[in-house]
Amino acid sequence: MSSGDDSTVDALDTAFSISHASTFQPQEEFPDILHGSEFLNEEIREPGKCLEPDCDGFCTASMDGEEIKINCLQSASHNTTVPIADYTRCRISFEAVLSYFAESLDMELIDYTEELPRYVESEASDGYRLCLIVSPGDYEDTVETICRTAIEDDRPTLLITPTQDTEIIHEIQSLFAAGHLVTATPIRMFAEPEIVQEAVGAMLSRSQFRRSAVSQQTDPDAHPVVDRLSSNPSYAIAELNQMRMLRASKQLPKGSGTRLEKVSEVAFAQLFATYPDAGGEDDSGSKLPDILFRIPAIPKANQHDEILGIADSKSGSEANFGSEKVDEKHPRYLQRARRDGPESDLHAHVFLVLGFDGHKELDFFDKMDPHYQDKEYMVIVTAEALATMLIARLTHPIENKFLLQKNDFRSVLYPLFHRDWFNKDEELAKMTREVGSNQNKYNREYNSRSDLIVLTREVVIRQLTRYLKKDGAIERELESYFEPMNYRPP
Ligand SMILES: [Zn+2]
Repeated sequence: MSSGDDSTVDALDTAFSISHASTFQPQEEFPDILHGSEFLNEEIREPGKCLEPDCDGFCTASMDGEEIKINCLQSASHNTTVPIADYTRCRISFEAVLSYFAESLDMELIDYTEELPRYVESEASDGYRLCLIVSPGDYEDTVETICRTAIEDDRPTLLITPTQDTEIIHEIQSLFAAGHLVTATPIRMFAEPEIVQEAVGAMLSRSQFRRSAVSQQTDPDAHPVVDRLSSNPSYAIAELNQMRMLRASKQLPKGSGTRLEKVSEVAFAQLFATYPDAGGEDDSGSKLPDILFRIPAIPKANQHDEILGIADSKSGSEANFGSEKVDEKHPRYLQRARRDGPESDLHAHVFLVLGFDGHKELDFFDKMDPHYQDKEYMVIVTAEALATMLIARLTHPIENKFLLQKNDFRSVLYPLFHRDWFNKDEELAKMTREVGSNQNKYNREYNSRSDLIVLTREVVIRQLTRYLKKDGAIERELESYFEPMNYRPP
């Protein structure tokens, strides 16, 4: 059979969709085209007992051409012959299937291991791993295992799965931030192996790029998460997702505030230039803002204002907007930025949040508003929104495309953090988050507060996708990363 043969690929997809595909099954379960091919191992299971309904005697069986001769040991009158086919059972030859897929990608396999019933895997000659899901009892857990090992071992992985199961993969992938290391493909996609090949190529170049770009600057006394983050910046995406879910299920552990602070620091540093000395306490003992970052003016893009971001993260367990008091802390941050901060035209007072509580961010804004001077305003960024910016930033082909079009990745994000750019952009300014109840009231109130910008995942995606052409592999890639998360905020 030739590579990329549609009917073979279809038949294999069907075979893998049989329940308990890892075990021997009656022959008729498998599509005809596979019978007698290298893809099926056959096993004849001769009857051990007489076939006569009322007889419980043992029997002997012997092959005779296409038939099995059965001799009852109790009564010769029960002797009979049956077709061999009725007693033939088949199991997929997983190694042959993997080889077939590899061959259609012009790839040689250099080893083969079975983790049955869950999956089988091989290593391709140019270093990546092929995992073929067979019939796991727990599909999600299996995908998680594969994604986890991909991240832990930093191994680009092509994850092949029966077509019926493809959708769930991206959701799981996104939780592990494995998008850069795991490319998932349904079996049917091998009818067009060049598309799979392209995706694998993109994944390998991403992983190469990332490895060469990661710089090792780890402070041994830093928070444990910092080490992980510095060797794998995209791990911040996984952390943001993880904390968001823990908050949703009200399981955020103590110390999450510090952790979120570290993660958001890495995230903002990936996106913009951050001032490393922010955070900690000032000489009077007051706590300083977590993060100061700078979005430069980019005159070529007509972005003439320098923006200073004064960012604070709120893990939500101890600091909901509802309970957040506008005490001395926040106005003090602003004052310090005015007094000591680097020269800048605008001050974006940024809050990173894991979730919202009703409409309470509006009340919080109203309390903060009197403290803002002309060039100051509030930007609330959800963890999902920040993760989405990071994904675009850390995915080489996407970032490259932005660079080609805008010269500077930051100029794509600039309008999201610039009050006037944002408000003048009707498409962005009109987008409001889903609040569950009193949506119209919320929309009205949000739209009437021009010094408040709420950046949700949807707003960020809208802004990013406007800069991407609506075709080609990059668009597909971006879409697959941007599968909605499988949880709703409480
Ligand atoms: Zn008998």
